[in-house]
Amino acid sequence: MHEELETLLEMQDLHMQLRALEEGEVRDLESGLFDMGIEEALETLDQKILELQGRLEPRVQDRYRRLISAGNRAVVPVLGGVCYGCFVAVPTSWAAEADPNDKLNVCQNCGRFHYYPT
Ligand SMILES: [Zn+2]
Repeated sequence: MHEELETLLEMQDLHMQLRALEEGEVRDLESGLFDMGIEEALETLDQKILELQGRLEPRVQDRYRRLISAGNRAVVPVLGGVCYGCFVAVPTSWAAEADPNDKLNVCQNCGRFHYYPT
């Protein structure tokens, strides 16, 4: 898999976790079941995201930040030739490549990064 794509997926996972914590979906932390407090958990996630972000090209960072700060997913799967960010068909030539995940593809319609689940 393309290195930046892998990093983006990892960052997105962390961002989803961050959001879940911020929105209070994870209550166990506050109830004291874990050793780590919610503030500490948020900070750890923030730091890890920044660290991962540093591995990306500036223009990839920009695009990712723009997408994720709008509350959207930045990386979406392509299934059956359709972008699952905007539900518009992607050019078939992309999916026909030996391993489409070896390239960093961006949706021409919604601008999200694509990955192809295997
Ligand atoms: Zn799209």
